[in-house]
Amino acid sequence: MVANEPSPTFLHISRRRAGRSKEPRGMTSFYDEVEIEDMDYDEDTETYSYPCPCGDRFQITKADLASGDEVATCPSCSLIIRVIYDPEAFECEGETIDL
Ligand SMILES: [Zn+2]
Repeated sequence: MVANEPSPTFLHISRRRAGRSKEPRGMTSFYDEVEIEDMDYDEDTETYSYPCPCGDRFQITKADLASGDEVATCPSCSLIIRVIYDPEAFECEGETIDL
C-alpha cells in the first residue's frame, strides 16, 4: 500500500531544456530560419510554435528567447529551426522572468 509519488512537473521541463539546442557542434544545420512574427504565440504557455514538416510543431518559450536561446525544437523529430527575433524587444518589456 505504498502510494506512488507523483512525478514533479519540473522533471519534464528540465528534460526538455536538456535537448539538443546547445550542442556544441561546429556546424549546426537548421531546417529553416523563421521570423518570430511568423510564429504562433500561446499566451497560456508563453510558447512560440511553428509547424514542422513531420506534423508536430517546433516550440520555443518566451523565457528561452529572453535568455538568448534562439533554437526552436520539434518534440517529435530531430529537426530544429532558428528563430529570428530582436533581443532588445524582449528586454524592453522590462519583465523579470523567474526561472
Ligand atoms: Zn518534427
